[in-house]
Amino acid sequence: MSEREGRGEEQRRGQGEGRGKREGGGEETGRNRREALRAFQEGIREGGRRVEEALLNFGVKGIVLEAKVFGMVCGCAGFQTDTRGIQAEEVEVLKEDLGKLLASVGESLGIRPDFIYARKLPGSEEVVALTVRELCDICKEEFAGSNASPRPDIIVLRK
Ligand SMILES: [Zn+2]
Repeated sequence: MSEREGRGEEQRRGQGEGRGKREGGGEETGRNRREALRAFQEGIREGGRRVEEALLNFGVKGIVLEAKVFGMVCGCAGFQTDTRGIQAEEVEVLKEDLGKLLASVGESLGIRPDFIYARKLPGSEEVVALTVRELCDICKEEFAGSNASPRPDIIVLRK
């Protein structure tokens, strides 16, 4: 593990502890919460596995490095897999299938699949992330009415 990754892990753990302390609760509540968190984490890993397996089935030789659930400051939430070895043209021809798959993975994690997209490394044709996002009211308004990509590095799969 690199030093940077190590620090990130420490920070995440620190935040988790802080939340736990503030919320308090008995031993039973704490155990239930840990179990719920573990089930949620397993759901995220399962989502990553489903994406990787699907890529394999579609004949794409890409890998999923990391699967995560995220929350944005604006209020959007989503599920993302960081990927390597996938080219934009491969995603373009699989738009519909990938969109369906990511919608299903998102729903299994309680994320409404409003906006599904792939992100390219800027200035390159390598796809580095596949994302399903539940839009907040602000972003919903901003993205409404147009199917055009909001940014040059974004390939819209479904919205
Ligand atoms: Zn938003």
